[in-house]
Amino acid sequence: MNFYEEIGVKPLINASETYTKLGGSLLHPRALEAMRQAGERFVDMEQLMDAVCARAARWTRNAAAFVTSGAAGGLVLSAAALLCGPDEAALDRLPDTSALERDEILIFDGAYRERIPYWRLVGLSGAKLVAVAPSLGAMLGAINERTAGVFLFAGSLYEEDLPACERAVPALKRAGARVVVDAAAQLPPASNLWRYTQELGADLCVFSGGKHIKGPQPTGLIVGDARLIRACRMAACPNARVGRPFKTGKEELAGFITALEIFLAESEHERYARQLEMLARLGSMLREGAPVGVEIKKTGRLGTEQPLLYVTLPAGKTGAACNAFARALPQPVDLGVFPPEFGFPENMIFLNAYNLEPGEIPAVAEAVCAYVALR
Ligand SMILES: *Cc1c(COP(=O)(O)O)cnc(C)c1O
Repeated sequence: MNFYEEIGVKPLINASETYTKLGGSLLHPRALEAMRQAGERFVDMEQLMDAVCARAARWTRNAAAFVTSGAAGGLVLSAAALLCGPDEAALDRLPDTSALERDEILIFDGAYRERIPYWRLVGLSGAKLVAVAPSLGAMLGAINERTAGVFLFAGSLYEEDLPACERAVPALKRAGARVVVDAAAQLPPASNLWRYTQELGADLCVFSGGKHIKGPQPTGLIVGDARLIRACRMAACPNARVGRPFKTGKEELAGFITALEIFLAESEHERYARQLEMLARLGSMLREGAPVGVEIKKTGRLGTEQPLLYVTLPAGKTGAACNAFARALPQPVDLGVFPPEFGFPENMIFLNAYNLEPGEIPAVAEAVCAYVALR
């Protein structure tokens, strides 16, 4: 009997996103095999961490890298590194920052703060968060002798009413500030793994390992400046400091670095074409099966290089009800629902092939068509 059958939990088809609440993404058999092998032997974890991080840095064309439990853990560790640098005594005291000269981290104020509350996690380090009016001038003016650094959140949806990272990172660097970019979900293209740091000049950049890289769900990557990366590592497990809870085991390290290798070796063009082909098939099945409008979008919702299929349901139907219906089917399917605050029509859903297998397409189409046919 399969594990999920035994425990009584029904697996679902993911036609929505690399959502953590669905399990992020699926592991390649080679990544799973690496995890199994890693789990069979004891090792010196410092040596394993050295080897994995050195590869991650080289492969992502960065000076240094650190593998942690997720982008969220990466945000806290990056903040700790901005606050303390590689200073053991200062790191020991976090989240108490009372002895630090620079204890403030600046973030932009704006609508994105409702949409992605991850910025709150920066405060777990002990940093005092200061929200600054969403203009570059205001941010440059807000930098003062208590500023440890600035955190920016990348993604077209978040940057809508904020200065774009392209402009903000170089300007903040010229003003002498240290900058961390949260680019957790900004993949593909893989070149974003070095773009924010190597091209735009950010000191650190944070990615999810369990989303588009398809590593184990509890993994994440911090890349950038070697001294700050050293501080991140000092703040983290196995040290009993602020980052101790963000533990990665030998299995996660093995799974992550194998997944990263596979992600970087894959042709982005072929991966995109494969998704496009699946979405085109899905679109024609939907058009044949129900009175819906379908449109292929060339980029993901955060501006990533990932096609999406937008489906307009007949008037009176809602994306939320459609998804509730699909999730309750004998073979549950998760469809992309736009959160209300994003301002899309209520009767629109999005479908994403990043985590779909070609064989799952009929089930996705049938779920939507069966919902539309309800009276
Ligand atoms: C998903 C996400 C995170 C959290 O990433 P984990 O790897 O799940 O910890 C942080 N920031 C942004 C913008 C995200 O999209």
